[in-house]
Amino acid sequence: MYLVAVLDWYSRYVISWELDQSLEQGFVLAAVDRTLQTAVPTIMNSDQMSAPMHIRQPSATIVFAKRQIQVSLYRTMRRVRERGGRRRAMATADTLVRIDTIYHEPTAFDYARGRQVRERHPQAALVEVPSHWQIPDLHGNEDLAESWNRVKRTVLVLGVKKGLQCRPFERSCDFVAPSSANGCAMACAYCYVARRKGYANPITTFVNIDQIAGAIERHAARQGFKWEATQADPTLWTYELGTNSDCAVDATISDNVRDLVALFRRLPNAKATFATKYVNDDLLSYAPEGKTRIRFSLMPAAIARVVDVRTSRVPDRIAAINRFMEAGYEVNINFGPVLYYDGWLADYATLCEQIDASLSPAAKRQLHAEVIFLTHSAELHEINLRWHPAAEALLWQLELQEHKVSQASGEQVLRYQHTLKRQLVADLLAVLRERLPYCGVRYAF
Ligand code: SF4
Repeated sequence: MYLVAVLDWYSRYVISWELDQSLEQGFVLAAVDRTLQTAVPTIMNSDQMSAPMHIRQPSATIVFAKRQIQVSLYRTMRRVRERGGRRRAMATADTLVRIDTIYHEPTAFDYARGRQVRERHPQAALVEVPSHWQIPDLHGNEDLAESWNRVKRTVLVLGVKKGLQCRPFERSCDFVAPSSANGCAMACAYCYVARRKGYANPITTFVNIDQIAGAIERHAARQGFKWEATQADPTLWTYELGTNSDCAVDATISDNVRDLVALFRRLPNAKATFATKYVNDDLLSYAPEGKTRIRFSLMPAAIARVVDVRTSRVPDRIAAINRFMEAGYEVNINFGPVLYYDGWLADYATLCEQIDASLSPAAKRQLHAEVIFLTHSAELHEINLRWHPAAEALLWQLELQEHKVSQASGEQVLRYQHTLKRQLVADLLAVLRERLPYCGVRYAF
């Protein structure tokens, strides 16, 4: 019996597989066919002795050529292996985005940041659009749902952020800062940022970073010193930077995040915070001096492999905690989103053991966590069914869920039913108390 499996090289997610009793080409092509219905890669790589022959057959190469997919054989994989783990991580960082098209507002290149991004992607085609928020070719183009990940990898939008207000928020922060980006190159199947974006959600980078930073600085100055502790922080006003994007990925596009970390370093009464699923070691050189809190989002690795598409592996996120703390960040954990499935609590107990075994005593002393159970939306569910149905088997469980209006966004979302969720929260908090007794929980809902 022979097995062929097609994996997303970055996320290690098995996209499709087939079994056959012979090594004829048919079952390899059937697996490839199903893969291409889910996603279209830039490069198709094969690492086994027989599959390279199959994917070089004319019937296969025609399929690849039509979709402009390059074929690369096992030598590529061997070379990557020989480079070792660290080099492999760097290679994945390099391949997270390969921008070939930049949609830009008319004035985007009047700003130094817009010109900087352009210089980093000189090969990209430029398409002028009236507004970063309404690009019918992207957000309204139903055909792009099947190419969800390709768009995230190859498209960038440059816009000018208009709303510069800091708004109060009482969970991970005291205030949500105006975003320096919106959208993401990663592709978590439950991503709430994607819910309002239609059929595509690539990164939009805002080029007026000086205005954004100025608005935050003036707002912080008006607050004065913080006399009363909040759940976000006992002494510093805390500003959320990553409501609409993942800042660690944004930092691969421009210096916006570097500038914001520098801003908070000098604000006497405020700190920044953002959650991330991406380990970007470039941030280690930003010298935050304790004024930026990174929250690494964690979930059981087997589940993350299905729903956290294009993100850093969970073991890599855990391993990064000590490193980022030593570089001057406060490092917390975001247990979010928490998914409920058979065996979920045992998986969280194991995850806690992995965290406990990995963290240094200093990292444990400063550790706090937040717990956020899954929410989902009908619109994103429909889109996900077209590029990643396997994730929906975990996310869409109507018999356990109910529709509610989100307090944070005002949108209709799907959540675990009220009484079930109350029990799930209690069960998970009990596990955290037992396995990570030194970890304070800021909130759980
Ligand atoms: S990392 Fe955050 S912003 Fe990016 S896809 Fe995942 S949930 Fe969305």
